[in-house]
Amino acid sequence: MRMLIFGPPGSGKGTYASRLMSILSVPHISTGDLVREEIKRGSEVGIVAKQYVERGELVPDKIIIDLLTERLQKPDAERGFILDGFPRTINQAMFLEENFKIDLVINLVVPDEVIIQRLSNRLICKRCGAIYNRLTLPPKVDEICDICGGELYQREDDRPEVIKARLKVYRENTEPLINYYRERGLLRDVYCNDLMTPPDIIVRKILEIIEEIKSEK
Ligand code: AMP
Repeated sequence: MRMLIFGPPGSGKGTYASRLMSILSVPHISTGDLVREEIKRGSEVGIVAKQYVERGELVPDKIIIDLLTERLQKPDAERGFILDGFPRTINQAMFLEENFKIDLVINLVVPDEVIIQRLSNRLICKRCGAIYNRLTLPPKVDEICDICGGELYQREDDRPEVIKARLKVYRENTEPLINYYRERGLLRDVYCNDLMTPPDIIVRKILEIIEEIKSEK
């Protein structure tokens, strides 16, 4: 299964992709992670990419495509992959089309109010990085991490005004790609309208779509 997953920040995309990875036995490949690894290693590519990432801009297509090509050549990607954060431009989508047969594109559709509610209630532990949510996953003791006793804080970009700006950028960038895949009949919308929907329900919906596609072949 070669699959792409689109979803706004705070849609739970990472959680679903990692659960699907274990069920489908294919790697979850995030180009954001690939870029962060290069930056951490201080490689030549990492040094260039860092300037873009820090400004919140897209890293040039050539750099991203080279990193991804290298990653997709590893043996674990032979059986397929779940791509997260790629493609982000039509040029990147064309690269994929020329080199791989994509089976499915999942588009997570989440209303802005749900995202804002989820992200503006998200709390992170200063010490161990554990993630909580005041509404859906509260810590046992207010503002204190259950695991390590560290202090919980809210990320600077998880404030409602900033979340709205992040969502606007996401929608503007992604819309042309959604249309690109819809026109090719590869895109399937998955609706997550309720903040309290457990991740397993969404994962099950995606698995049902995968089964449908397999039976159509
Ligand atoms: P992410 O973790 O997916 O939000 O990615 C973090 C940053 O890495 C982005 O803000 C971009 O600067 C860069 N990046 C990740 N994926 C891509 C991509 N497909 N094309 C261009 N830049 C990317």
